[in-house]
Amino acid sequence: MKNNNNLLYGGIEGGGTKFVCAVGTGPNNVLAEARFPTTTPEETMTQAVDFFKQQEASLGRIASIGFACFGPLDPNPDSKTYGHILPTPKPHWTGANVVGMLRSAFDIPVNFDTDVNGAALGEWRWGKAQGLQTFIYLTVGTGIGGGGFVEGKLLHGLIHPEMGHIGVRHDRSADPFDGVCPFHGNCFEGLASGVAMEKRWGMHGDQLGKDHAAWNLEADYIAQALASYSFTLSPQRIIVGGGVGSLPHLLPKVQQRTKEIINSYIQSPVILEQIETYIVSPGLGNRSGMLGAIALAEQALLRS
Ligand code: ZN
Repeated sequence: MKNNNNLLYGGIEGGGTKFVCAVGTGPNNVLAEARFPTTTPEETMTQAVDFFKQQEASLGRIASIGFACFGPLDPNPDSKTYGHILPTPKPHWTGANVVGMLRSAFDIPVNFDTDVNGAALGEWRWGKAQGLQTFIYLTVGTGIGGGGFVEGKLLHGLIHPEMGHIGVRHDRSADPFDGVCPFHGNCFEGLASGVAMEKRWGMHGDQLGKDHAAWNLEADYIAQALASYSFTLSPQRIIVGGGVGSLPHLLPKVQQRTKEIINSYIQSPVILEQIETYIVSPGLGNRSGMLGAIALAEQALLRS
């Protein structure tokens, strides 16, 4: 991909609790950045629009905007509800036409996708997925979600993947906790999200010591999911980020357990001999999402 240094991009990482807006061209050139709490669509999107207007006044014209947002959402430009948030338990946001709010203020290309697809693209552009054709970016934090990049492009399909809501084996004798997903109870997110950990153990994950039994259980659930993704999509690498996923003491447990579950069935040296290069932490740290939004903006120009 050509890096045209004359163009400035806007990026929005729309999270469930905060929005991060940035203007720049990549990891070494973020010229302005702002963050504000996610309240109502009107208030939050107005803050985003105001930020970009202010930056344009001092930095010059923004060529395109990438918007990596919490979901579920409609990323299909041919759909009637393109750019809308789909039904979500998050108050105020169901049906919000967030791309329309941007378009009413800016007559430039907008590339709208899930937060995790954005982060995946950021890792492909500048992080640990450079040069790969097929990989997954998974975030394990307050919630769990995965972005898919398949045969050279982001995976959407019917709507977009919901990798956090797959089923996992739940041994109730080892873990009697019912799970917290409002839709499925004990799906992967219901059992392994930060919210689930806090409810199960009565304290935030940060307060659980490294040797707490919580981490073996957590590693097992994450590894079950990673094995399932490995079997279904055959990714060349899986990047695991998020507040829980990025914990350095958790990663080796997840690598080991995933290898055990796959049990040599996938005959690739990457899994058999170099599992530490197959399941990795993000190259861009906690900036994958924001930089991913900039990468989405860059792609908006390529396809427009
Ligand atoms: Zn679920």
